[in-house]
Amino acid sequence: MAKGLSKAKLGKYRRLLEKKRKALLKELDYLEGSSMNATITDSTGDISAYSYHMADQGTDAMEREKAFLFASREGRFLYHLNQALDRIGSGTYGRCEECGEFISEERLNAVPHARLCIACKMKDDERKSTKTT
Ligand SMILES: [Zn+2]
Repeated sequence: MAKGLSKAKLGKYRRLLEKKRKALLKELDYLEGSSMNATITDSTGDISAYSYHMADQGTDAMEREKAFLFASREGRFLYHLNQALDRIGSGTYGRCEECGEFISEERLNAVPHARLCIACKMKDDERKSTKTT
């Protein structure tokens, strides 16, 4: 039976995630300062989240900022890093969200914010690639 990550290992991944998060936030700061007025589209051209918030004049700056963040690739990465840190806090880190199995340390070392084990990730990718995008 597979066992979970030790406290020391969890600490290691937490530090790794926090380091990535810090570097990303720095990058986002820079991006935001230089491109806040530019048209925001990600690789798929999806601006729905952002334009929705732009249309809502009552939305405060924080909400608009969140929408902006989420509309960018970096924003989504930040979201995943935050989620992983949350999972460390709640004790579910290192487990596959799909099947509940432990994610291999090899995989966590490569992708510390991984939320799926290799098997489920491959199935997920297959599902995505069969879509018409
Ligand atoms: Zn799985």
